Amino acid sequence: MVYTGGRFQSELAVFCDDAGRIQRLIPAREVQEPARLKDRALLPGLINTHSHAFQRVIRGHTERRTSAVKDSFWTWREMMYSAATRLTPEDIYDVSRMVFLEMALTGITTVGEFHYIHHTPEGFAYEDPNLLSKQVIRAAREVGLRITLLRVAYARSGYQVQANPLQTRFLETDPDLYLKHLTQLESDLRGMKGEAWVGVAPHSVRAVPLKYLREVIDLGKERNLPVHMHLAEQPAEVSACIEEYGRSPVSLLATEGLLSDRFTGVHVIHVTPKAVRLLANSRSMVCACPTTERNLGDGVVPAESFMAEGLQVSLGSDSNVQIDLLEDARELEYHLRLQKMGRAVLAPPTDSEYSALAARLFECATVNGARSLCAPGGVIEPGSAADFFTVDLNDSSVVGSGENDLLSSIVFSLSKTAVRDVFVAGKQIVADGKHALEKEIVEKFKQLQKRLWQ
Ligand SMILES: [Zn+2]
Repeated sequence: MVYTGGRFQSELAVFCDDAGRIQRLIPAREVQEPARLKDRALLPGLINTHSHAFQRVIRGHTERRTSAVKDSFWTWREMMYSAATRLTPEDIYDVSRMVFLEMALTGITTVGEFHYIHHTPEGFAYEDPNLLSKQVIRAAREVGLRITLLRVAYARSGYQVQANPLQTRFLETDPDLYLKHLTQLESDLRGMKGEAWVGVAPHSVRAVPLKYLREVIDLGKERNLPVHMHLAEQPAEVSACIEEYGRSPVSLLATEGLLSDRFTGVHVIHVTPKAVRLLANSRSMVCACPTTERNLGDGVVPAESFMAEGLQVSLGSDSNVQIDLLEDARELEYHLRLQKMGRAVLAPPTDSEYSALAARLFECATVNGARSLCAPGGVIEPGSAADFFTVDLNDSSVVGSGENDLLSSIVFSLSKTAVRDVFVAGKQIVADGKHALEKEIVEKFKQLQKRLWQ
């Protein structure tokens, strides 16, 4: 069964061209000797809009009490920083390969990597100032994923906040230097069209002052690049912004003309209905990261007000504490069910179709992510990228589903081990649940974790 046009269809054959695009979909009986995917469903590859690959090294090491008062996002951040200061360029490559492998095994075919480690641990530029960005890109390409390298601009610890020595690897305090490095990276990637490309990513209103922010976002708009930014993740970020500018983060961006259809705000949790309207009016997008947000205690993304205003929501695995984009999709809904003590909160109000809610959540994990990253793919239709994954219909988590309920079963119940095959640009990177480089990647990562933590 193939998921196309918002529903599953049986007995369809998908033709791909040499450029890795879907050429046509035709009835399977008209094809001589098709490669059959027996008892499998074929779905468009998942698009992970927001990841920090290196944070995978702290998985399992931060689920404990470190503060006598209260553990929070901010105490977690100190632990994350202390790992970030210890990684060599080779380590960044090894952890990124591990993360991208895990993504590939769960059906993710494109990742937006929000990358902010630029310098040596002492805070100096490498001979190639984009060395670490390129390590991440190399890792993604070796695993076979498409990647948007969202190169992060990071200028300060915060408004009237003393410099944090653990942030020295991230800082590029001069916007001209940031723009120079970004331009260099963009030109170095020219030969990798559709495989790896850049986006601009001012870290947050906390880390980038307004003048710098304007320069970065204007350049992104001018060159038609994706513009990504952490936005309203924590109440403290919002109150510091009000103190500095007399406006909330969203209101600041809106009144300065920095929102556009190229802009994606990541998290967007602590916002007012007015801010949601400002984002919607500018055709901006939002990326929610529910598995990380619940892990960090960030709060609940008000996705029901986003959707009511027509704001598109994509999904990210963010801290990579768990990599399962369909879990992110269901959490987007489940967090609201717990908060509102109701069901089917995000279902379209006028559509009582069996799978309308699942289709909406699945769009967040596919089409909306593609738009946010300016990536090809997200759907199975002629002209689109040949990026897909298959699901084993006999897997215990979804067995017994028919055409009507299959998508809901996949979105709400699929075990990620039921993902069997993954294709990017028509090339198979995962076959029957296995990736060719798995053994080597896992071994290298085990050695890295041993060195870091034992
Ligand atoms: Zn993030």
